[in-house]
Formats: sequence, structure tokens, C-alpha cells
Amino acid sequence: MDLCEQSPSYVRAIAPYQPGKPISELAREMGLKEKNIIKLASNENPLGVSPRAKAAIKKQIAELGRYPDGNAFDLRAALAKRYKVPDGCIVVGNGSNDLLEMAASVFLGPGTSAVYSQHCFAVYPLATQARGARAIEVPTKNWGHDLRAMRAAIAADTRVVFIANPNNPTGTFVSGTALEEFIGDLPRDVAVVIDEAYTEYLPPDVRYDSVPWLKKHPNFILTRTFSKVYGLAGLRVGFGLMQPEVADLFNRVRQPFNVNSLALAAATAALGDTEFVAKSIKMNRAGMETLERAFRALGLEYIPSHANFVTFRVSQAATVYQKLLRQGVIVRPIAGYGMPEHLRVTIGTPKENTRFLAALEAALD
Ligand code: PMP
Repeated sequence: MDLCEQSPSYVRAIAPYQPGKPISELAREMGLKEKNIIKLASNENPLGVSPRAKAAIKKQIAELGRYPDGNAFDLRAALAKRYKVPDGCIVVGNGSNDLLEMAASVFLGPGTSAVYSQHCFAVYPLATQARGARAIEVPTKNWGHDLRAMRAAIAADTRVVFIANPNNPTGTFVSGTALEEFIGDLPRDVAVVIDEAYTEYLPPDVRYDSVPWLKKHPNFILTRTFSKVYGLAGLRVGFGLMQPEVADLFNRVRQPFNVNSLALAAATAALGDTEFVAKSIKMNRAGMETLERAFRALGLEYIPSHANFVTFRVSQAATVYQKLLRQGVIVRPIAGYGMPEHLRVTIGTPKENTRFLAALEAALD
């Protein structure tokens, strides 16, 4: 028998994750200079790395001959202080993606199911499928999570519910009140993973604090990341907050040195760089307004977003994507998310936003 056929059929059925096109790849493909390309495809921070994190990375380089601290003592201590939780509630990951995978490893397997929404972050279906678990995908309401339908979809074999708030790729948001009510209404033996990768971008009037929910809901798992507002996407570091008993299970499936030492040092420093975070949020808000205004002027429908990206509708999205690429502008096609008539663009610097809008106008001609 062919070796590859020995792999479980549910693994062979996986459609691999499609990331945003890297700048270097577009430069190679189209013969463009890297410095003339802008990438607004992966919801990265256009301001780059926080200055404090950069300094911490430089200092840490001398120690690269050693393994990282597998228990992430310093970062977990800093997070415990910031979020006022015992350090036993904190698990760090190689990006928050790692935490999502750990949740799947801990709770899912053949004979179980996971509930998530249509147009949800791609890793939920991938992690579910890789464990041989059944996927229960719940149709969206106005592109966002339909919490009532999700509650109704929970089956006897459901072990995990995944929700991103705000959601990627739609940018939609459910209120903290509605979310906590949803969690409280779940059976206590169903884990609910609330993925708050973009929470820092929420406007003050809808911001909510889910950390205190940990005390009330033993099945609640919260994930956050350093890849977005903290500008450390390339280093891969995120974290999860959960009951210590659940953290103990996560630590059983976690790789011994899952977060590298540069990432640990950078994240610890970035957490304290409130100035950089505030600047990033302010720039994002202004950029979002610019893009929304421009979409309205161009007569393009967009999904109001609470994150650092916005998804807009264009007929011939695949063609528009290609036309943007030819002008050195990378956005994200989201046909793989069941949205073939939409493109997702990350909010950039003012200069990048202007360049994107000019390229878009030209592409629509
Ligand atoms: N959750 C959501 C909703 C995301 O959009 C992303 C990144 N695209 C992640 C999690 C994972 O990010 P990271 O692994 O870099 O923390």
C-alpha cells in the first residue's frame, strides 16, 4: 500500500491553510522590487515591532545557544500581573494559533465534534479536522456569529466551541454581555474558546473585559496574541487564560519549548509598551475611517469592522486581487472562507492606505 494512504483519511482531506502572499514571493513572481510592494494581507501591525521589544530582542541574541525557558516564567509573571490572574491559569503558545491547536488536542478526537461559525477563522476547521472530529458549522447572521443558532447546534458529542471576537475575516463583533450570556448557557463540560486576537482594536464604547469570566465559568478559555497590536507576528507568540486544571491539560500536549527565547523576551517587553499600543490603535482607527469613506465614495459595500482590517465586496474579486498584485499591493482573497466576492484589506499606514486606494480605483476601472 502507498505510504501516504496510511495517513488517516481525515488528514488527507485537509485543505492546507493559505496565508497572505509574502512580499518576497510577489517580488519574484512579478519582477518587482520588494521596497515597492505593500502587504495588507495578514492583519499585521503596519508600525512594525515595538521599540521596547526590539531592544529586548537585541539583548537576548547572546543567549540563543541555550534552550528557551520552557515554562515561560517571566512572560507568564508579567501576564499574571497585567491580568490579575494566578500564573497557573496562563499557557503561552507559538502564536495564539498554538493555543487553538492545543485546545483541539486536549478536547477533540474521533467521535467528538466542534461547533464554530460559517466564515470563521480558518484554523478552527483545520484543527478540528486534523483530530478526526466532526465539524458543526453554523450559518452566520449578517456575516457575524449567530449565538442562538450556535447554542442550538451543540450536540451530545460537542467538546469545543470556537468563537473569534472580533471575527476574522469578517471583522464582526458580538457584545461582551451577549458573549458571557452565551457562555453561561453552555453545558459546563463543553469548552468555549474565545479568540480575542483583535480585542485591543475595539472602540472604547464596546470594549469589554472577559478575564473576570474565568472565575465564573470553568469551561471558558480565552486566547490572545502578540501578533497584532504588539507587532510581533514574525516571532510567533500568544497566550491562553483558563482554569489551572485545563492549563494542566494544555501543558501535557504543549511542545516542551514551544515559544522561542526571542519571542519570550520581546513579548514581555512589548506588554509594557503602552505608548506603542496606543499609537497603533489610534493609527488603525484613523485608517479605518479613511478606507470606509473611500469605499462609500466608490460605491463599494463593506462589512463594518471592529478589528485592524476591513472586508469589502467587489464583483470579480479574483481579478481585482490580481490587478492589485500587478501594482505591488497585496490584499487577501477570501474565497476559501466562502466569500468569493469579497477581499480583505489590513489597515496600513496613512501612506499605504492612500497607495491601496489609488491601486483599487485603477483596478476597478
Ligand atoms: N485568531 C484569529 C482570529 C486570527 O485572525 C489569527 C491570525 N490571523 C490568529 C488567531 C492567530 O494568530 P497568531 O497565531 O499569530 O497569534
